[in-house]
Amino acid sequence: MKILRSPAAMLEAVQALRHKGKTIGFVPTMGALHEGHLSLLRKARGRNDRVVASIFVNPLQFGPREDLAAYPRPKARDHALLAEEGCDLLFEPAAERFYPVGFATRVEVQGLDQRLCGAFRKGHFLGVTTVVAKLLVTCAPDRLYLGRKDYQQAVILERMIEDLNLPVDVVVCPTVREKDGLAMSSRNAYLTPEERAWAPNLYRALRETAGEIASGRIRRPQQAEEAVARRLQGGSGRLQYAEVLQARDLSVVDPLRGPLVLAAACFLGRARLIDNVPVRAPEAPARAAASRVSAKASPSIKRKGR
Ligand code: AMP
Repeated sequence: MKILRSPAAMLEAVQALRHKGKTIGFVPTMGALHEGHLSLLRKARGRNDRVVASIFVNPLQFGPREDLAAYPRPKARDHALLAEEGCDLLFEPAAERFYPVGFATRVEVQGLDQRLCGAFRKGHFLGVTTVVAKLLVTCAPDRLYLGRKDYQQAVILERMIEDLNLPVDVVVCPTVREKDGLAMSSRNAYLTPEERAWAPNLYRALRETAGEIASGRIRRPQQAEEAVARRLQGGSGRLQYAEVLQARDLSVVDPLRGPLVLAAACFLGRARLIDNVPVRAPEAPARAAASRVSAKASPSIKRKGR
């Protein structure tokens, strides 16, 4: 695996591959890799001639009181894992190199950041879209691999790529979970053993509530949000939000119907956990019995020719 630190060297390396007719799958990460990240690499490996990953703890997407300095950076371990998974090129720029003095540009997707995490992490998605736009220009991939775990991020990036006619296909991959259901996350390392024991409650609360939506028992967004809150009440986690929205454009649907995403964030000790589940609500009461939780509510895989 070749490690490149300068954007110019990275672009030259991928352009050389493209000239040889090689397809490139790209997995952007902030490092502290786990099975969730590695599942994206494997997907990329399976469909592309070459796999490119990036490790960049992007200062632009952290708020002033967030964990930029504390974010785990186990470099040697990450490099070994990427090499083992057959990553061909790793782009790992220094922040000063990627955002040199005078860097003044932002790429903004409007509207989709008003709810869910965007409502609480002001400027976060502006940082994400700016860095991913820059990474896509620098790594020039055919396919971009994203995790469904960061659902709002995937929806926003799909929008950005479509709006800017960026010549890249987006592949959104399922959330990889621990055996007890907890979504894998680099931030799970912050949890104490007691917090770790409580953590799967978030996914459980989402799944149970999704079941009630799918069966037609819950028909209003507010009921769903209250149901998640009730299920988490009294535990060590503090719910920040629970919301159920239209799956593709994150709009409010009231009464609930069709493909939805039920998402939540909760503070647990030093960590902030996020998770989401797809759910399909009955279109009309008469069809309630036929409805079910459906994996089809996830962002689509889009194909665009270069
Ligand atoms: P991060 O390093 O947290 O910025 O994540 C890099 C990529 O890995 C993003 O596309 C995430 O959505 C994805 N990812 C993180 N955790 C998981 C997980 N548990 N399952 C699947 N993908 C994940």
